[in-house]
Amino acid sequence: MRRTLFENLTTRPLTEPLPPPDQASLAELAQSVNRAARARLGRSLAVRHVDAGSCNGCELELHALSNAFYDLERLGLRFVASPRHADVLTVTGPVTKNMREALLRTYDAMPDPKWVIAIGACARDGGLFSGSYAIVGGVSDVVPVDLHIDGCPPSPRSLLKGLLALIEHQIRRAS
Ligand code: SF4
Repeated sequence: MRRTLFENLTTRPLTEPLPPPDQASLAELAQSVNRAARARLGRSLAVRHVDAGSCNGCELELHALSNAFYDLERLGLRFVASPRHADVLTVTGPVTKNMREALLRTYDAMPDPKWVIAIGACARDGGLFSGSYAIVGGVSDVVPVDLHIDGCPPSPRSLLKGLLALIEHQIRRAS
């Protein structure tokens, strides 16, 4: 015990160094998302999230968009509690049998225009969990998917880039 205490006092914690802050390019990316959303919708983007059965790794990255480092609400992007207020539905994890109905109802409750983003390898085709008795499959087996963002889990920056690509694509289709 005394030895452990001494070691803890004299050695540095084993953590990875923080990546260098790149707030300028991050803010630029987020502003592009906001501009694109305003061009397509006339207002900023509202996102409803459904965890359809993930390990929560993807949620950690998604929630990071709202933390003090990314703080995307200051640039317009916001998560909403009701699907009736949402433009984008983000879904993580394989779709479990227990969550299939909830995912369908969430999708049905969203007003048009609406888009679905499947986040992470599991959301594409079940990933690590494919073949499990408890899952239905990937998100596209239950609701139409407009964009897959790969990764296990994808980083917050990849999530932002995916959102931007999706909205810009919708603007091009609408014009
Ligand atoms: S893609 Fe990876 S991090 Fe995301 S739910 Fe699946 S196992 Fe977890």
